[in-house]
This record gives sequence, structure tokens and C-alpha cells, in this order.
Amino acid sequence: MEPDTPRLSLAVWKFASCDGCQLSLLDLEDELLGLADRLEVAYFLEASRARAEGPYDVSLVEGSITTPHDAERIREVRRCSRRLVTIGACATAGGIQALRNFADVEDFTSVVYASPDYIATLRTSTPISAHVPVDFELHGCPINKHQLLEVISAHLNRRRPRIRAHSVCIECKRRGNTCVMVAHGTPCLGPVTHAGCGALCPSYDRGCYGCYGPKETPNTASLDPWTGLESPDLVRIYRTFNALAPEFRAASEGHERE
Ligand code: SF4
Ligand code: SF4
Repeated sequence: MEPDTPRLSLAVWKFASCDGCQLSLLDLEDELLGLADRLEVAYFLEASRARAEGPYDVSLVEGSITTPHDAERIREVRRCSRRLVTIGACATAGGIQALRNFADVEDFTSVVYASPDYIATLRTSTPISAHVPVDFELHGCPINKHQLLEVISAHLNRRRPRIRAHSVCIECKRRGNTCVMVAHGTPCLGPVTHAGCGALCPSYDRGCYGCYGPKETPNTASLDPWTGLESPDLVRIYRTFNALAPEFRAASEGHERE
């Protein structure tokens, strides 16, 4: 790097989420220290109260939009960010909180809160891309820290992140795993789920439940008979962390109509 090259400024923002994806960034402590001469962490409230003024070169956004205030704030974040990257299932697909989109949110607030009148919430939880343009989406619940490092490194080097969009199945084959569905009849969403976890669950003889969301061109109709599940359970397996991802949503709604 040239001695006078300015450092890339990074901001991290939280919306409706559990903070797990921000923890993946904190888990990169050693790697980020190694990039200290090229990267300035300018705004990251989970890590530091110090905050530098924007605009920021790259913003990482965790969480979904669930309140009117969120909907205003994400537009401000977009205005002060040259590049905006969404991290995790909440930010890319509405998260587990998007289950409200398939029901009436007042059915939930009325039983969860003693005084539901105080709750200012939207009827839906939606991904960031439903509100502002997004430059890159990183999947997972939580995201994989090595993939996150690749995204940051790609921005430092002005190139597209090399994140493969193939399925968890490919990762299983690379690890030499026996297929849990073929060998044991365990329902598994690996064939339609985006890679990134290293086939974590099948490596422990569990089926994948799709926490990385849909892979590119997932064929859910072809997979479903292999799972051995009936319609109510098929609705349920597609309605978890990525229920609002278009391909999983279409699959669950299709089974709901059966
Ligand atoms: S995607 Fe998962 S780990 Fe990340 S913030 Fe949302 S719920 Fe938490
Ligand atoms: S195998 Fe599936 S459910 Fe398990 S961590 Fe990977 S993507 Fe998530």
C-alpha cells in the first residue's frame, strides 16, 4: 500500500436482530488488527463508544426492518454509506421475526406483552433490500466469519467478494460426509441451502434446516418428496430463519395450499 493511501472506513449498524452476526465480526479481532493500517472501524457501537463522522466507505448492516423508526434510519444509513453490505438472515431475508408476516402481528403482541399498546411495530419484518439498494448480501444465521473477512478484504482490494452460491450438499461432498437423507432418511435442506457453514449439521448426523437461506436456483419441488415429510411439516421446515426468502416462501406457501 502507498504510504498516503487513506484507510477504508467501516461502520456497523444494528436493526432487529440478536447481535450474533456482529459477534462474528468481533470474533475476527486478530484478523482486523492485522488490517489496522488499511481499515478504520469508524462506527461500531457493540465494540466501542468512539464514533467517527461519516460518510463511510462500507457499512455492514445486521437486522431487519420492524418499526417505523427502523424504516427511516436505514435510509439515513444508506445516505452516509458508499457501499452497503447486509449480514445475516435477519438483514437478507427478514429473519425469524418475519414469521409475523404469515399471521396477524397483534395476535403475538397481545400474548407476549402486558401492555401491547406501547409496542410501535410494523405488521411485517422485511429485509434491508426491501427499503434501500444493497451492494452485497452475506447469508447465514449467524454469518461465517471467514466469509465476512473475504467481503471486507474484497472491498479493500476493490473487487467482488468470492462467495460461492452453491449448496450445502457440495460442502458435504467435499468433507466426505455420508448423506444423512439417503443413508438414514433424515430430512435435510442441504440440496437447496446456500453454502457457507462447511456442512456443519450433516457433519454431526443432523439434517440441514436451511439457516443460510436458499442457494442459487434451488429446486425445492424436486427435494421435497425425498424428505419423507407431509405438507404441514414441509411448511414448517421452510419457515424458520429465512421464511421470507422468495424461494423458501414460495415453497412453504405452495405446501400450505395443498
Ligand atoms: S441472522 Fe441469526 S445470528 Fe445474525 S442477527 Fe439474525 S438471528 Fe442473530
Ligand atoms: S448445515 Fe444447514 S442448518 Fe446447519 S449450519 Fe449449515 S446451513 Fe445452517
